[in-house]
Amino acid sequence: MNPTFRGGIHIAGHKETGKSPIEVMPAPGVVRISLAQHSGPPMKATVAPGDKVCLGQVIGMSDWKFACPLHSSVSGKVSAIEKYYDPEKAALVEAVVVENDGLDTLDESILKAQEQKKDPQDMTTDEIISAIKEAGVVGLGGAAFPAHAKIANSLVKAKTLLINCAECEPYITADHRAMLEYPEKLLGGVDIIIRAMGIERTYIAVEDNKADAAAMLAGLLKDRGDIEVRLLKTKYPQGDKGMIINALCKTEPPRSARLADLGFIIFNASTCVAIYRACVEGMPLIERVVTVTGDCIKTPKNVLARIGTPVSELIEFCGGFVKTPEKIINGGPMMGTALWDLKYGLKKGMSALLALSGGKCDDLPSCCINCGRCVRHCPMRLMPNYLARMAGARDYDGCYDYNVNDCLECGTCSYVCPGRVDIVQYIRQAKNALYAAGKR
Ligand code: SF4
Ligand code: SF4
Repeated sequence: MNPTFRGGIHIAGHKETGKSPIEVMPAPGVVRISLAQHSGPPMKATVAPGDKVCLGQVIGMSDWKFACPLHSSVSGKVSAIEKYYDPEKAALVEAVVVENDGLDTLDESILKAQEQKKDPQDMTTDEIISAIKEAGVVGLGGAAFPAHAKIANSLVKAKTLLINCAECEPYITADHRAMLEYPEKLLGGVDIIIRAMGIERTYIAVEDNKADAAAMLAGLLKDRGDIEVRLLKTKYPQGDKGMIINALCKTEPPRSARLADLGFIIFNASTCVAIYRACVEGMPLIERVVTVTGDCIKTPKNVLARIGTPVSELIEFCGGFVKTPEKIINGGPMMGTALWDLKYGLKKGMSALLALSGGKCDDLPSCCINCGRCVRHCPMRLMPNYLARMAGARDYDGCYDYNVNDCLECGTCSYVCPGRVDIVQYIRQAKNALYAAGKR
């Protein structure tokens, strides 16, 4: 049996879009490009309403020490800087609204970078980090941490590179298709990271429900002794970095430890493609593959779309709704956030857009019946039932003592709970209170 971690759950995959090739969506007439594109504080606009912008022009930046710039995904005119409620940040943030002129006029900075670009084999570590930063590459698996900062912060320490191709959330197949359709770019990105960091060993971790992609990558790597494609058992949350290390290396990294201090660095599959495009093609991150699916979508697809494409137009490109959705979710059903404003623009970290009917959206009361299922399935060996009870009683110090800060918020406990207790919601409440009290 392929390796895995202790705990977790098997969830129906709903990964039918894994068989459909990526479709390129034409750029929309208007893009709404959020200024909250990476973890950390939102950026500030560097353009104003009325300004003309080119494709790839920098339109946002922040003074956060790990920040990377944000680029326009179309050429045209800035029509507004709009405030909107961002469910991921749980705050009002700004978005740059650009009316597309349909010309895709490339910014001069990109033309210059393309003229001066070197073979990545001849680039220094600093040049690679700088190219990744200037291209605005962030982790495309959802965390959206700037990729250049991850590399810079892990130099010297990390000697083992993990490529996260687990894609363990149900419904999402964007990385699966990227592996099948862009394998050379993916492996090119891997080589750039290896070169920049002096990596000694690389594991490409793929869940065994994507054996076709694993076989394709393994075939391309047959002459490489330093890179190994490893199949992992399909189980949620196999895509968590700690669970990948647990499955591959049979060690349980302490949650509080930095991966680099343990000798690891991890990138997701699509991020490697973006790193390749930044260093080899000189292209900033202005588009991504997003899985648009769910039982309310007429023709579920993987779509290559510009950053800032309104959710409503992504849905339209997939044939629209066949029934009224109960929930529209940014990301997977386990860890995604609910969306209600369909003007919301595609963000760099948005791997999926789900429109689902039914589910746990009724008003029946919840009650713990002490069955212990949440404890059995928690991959972090926590006591989710106790945590929920203590958080409900606002005993946050008790939650702290029971290691609430180690929780991944993976949602496994809520999913298996027959008493319908929204455990993760209680846990988030406790973590937020502890964060406010400086105990995180
Ligand atoms: S307690 Fe946290 S880590 Fe454990 S199953 Fe629940 S959400 Fe996942
Ligand atoms: S799974 Fe739900 S009902 Fe069972 S112990 Fe945990 S919280 Fe209680």
